[in-house]
Amino acid sequence: RRPAILVTGGAGYIGSHTCKLLSAAGYLPVVFDNLSRGNERSVAWGPLVVGNIRDRTVLQQAIRTYQPKAIIHFAALAYVGESVHEPAEYYSTNVSGTIAVLDAARASSIENIIFSSSCATYGVPETLPIRETSAQNPISPYGRTKLMGEQIIRDYASAYGMKYAILRYFNACGADPEGELGEWHTPETHLIPRVLMAASGMIDEIEIFGADYDTSDGTCVRDYIHVIDLARAHLRALMHLEAGGESLSVNLGTGHGVSIKEILQAVTRMTSKSVPAVFRPRRPGDPAELYADPAGAREHLGFMPELSDIDTIVRTAAPFFGLETAASTIPMPTAKRSRSTAP
Ligand code: UDP
Repeated sequence: RRPAILVTGGAGYIGSHTCKLLSAAGYLPVVFDNLSRGNERSVAWGPLVVGNIRDRTVLQQAIRTYQPKAIIHFAALAYVGESVHEPAEYYSTNVSGTIAVLDAARASSIENIIFSSSCATYGVPETLPIRETSAQNPISPYGRTKLMGEQIIRDYASAYGMKYAILRYFNACGADPEGELGEWHTPETHLIPRVLMAASGMIDEIEIFGADYDTSDGTCVRDYIHVIDLARAHLRALMHLEAGGESLSVNLGTGHGVSIKEILQAVTRMTSKSVPAVFRPRRPGDPAELYADPAGAREHLGFMPELSDIDTIVRTAAPFFGLETAASTIPMPTAKRSRSTAP
């Protein structure tokens, strides 16, 4: 029997890509998702339990049924702007929800937890690149909920004998190279999908929020990491904990910053479409420049991004917007379980 892994938020963007790799690596991903933001069609590699993570009865029942060996906890609300206007929703889902998941793990003696954190926990960085030891001073309710989640997990781990991998994502993007999964947010606010929507004519133009930043070309710089690379890192974190590795908190980024203008140029280069763009004022809460020091994930998990160059990101995401790109073969990374961790 394949070892089951409970994946909260497994119908979402990063969760669904991770389920696909979990399945390829010999696990049974059991998705627990209320489908408020996730998509039922993205659940294809194991059972789906529809429920809210704050509903402790349903959560416990799912755990009793499937007996998961670990929990990967993706389920959360994740729009910075929305969190400013709806903080109650964010604290409830992201903080109370995380406590409910941890309590369920504790009640069932599930020791290994992988938690989706964010570079938003760092706020405006004092120095670049951002290291795991950099100060965490989030500037949005969203960032604060993720920092609180981290703190709660650490306290549970030290008191109740659990182990964790806290993964701080930088800018997730791209799509399954095999075309089975994509980025489907409603509404779509993220830069790369919106640039592709502008290139394909689905929207009239892309708004660029701020051209007067203190960066090389005046636009914001971010560390874009391919969703399949994020998924690969979750597998590595799982195997690390299963093999007896220590709890850890690591950044998941590439270490390279890319500007908004560079994204537009890459889309034009890859799709041969022009991208109509207009400049708008800065978006509140956007730091000028964010990029990770990726050394921690390399050192502790042996993780290095493989698909996170901008051309590959654009090439995998473009088909979902009806755009053709220069032909190429994109290797699907293998995610085999190592012999030592096989049951
Ligand atoms: N951005 C933009 N236009 C858009 C969406 C995003 O100029 O339509 C900018 C945004 O201000 C930020 C960067 O693109 O500087 C990445 O934003 P996104 O929302 O994709 O991710 P975030 O960094 O907020 O997690």
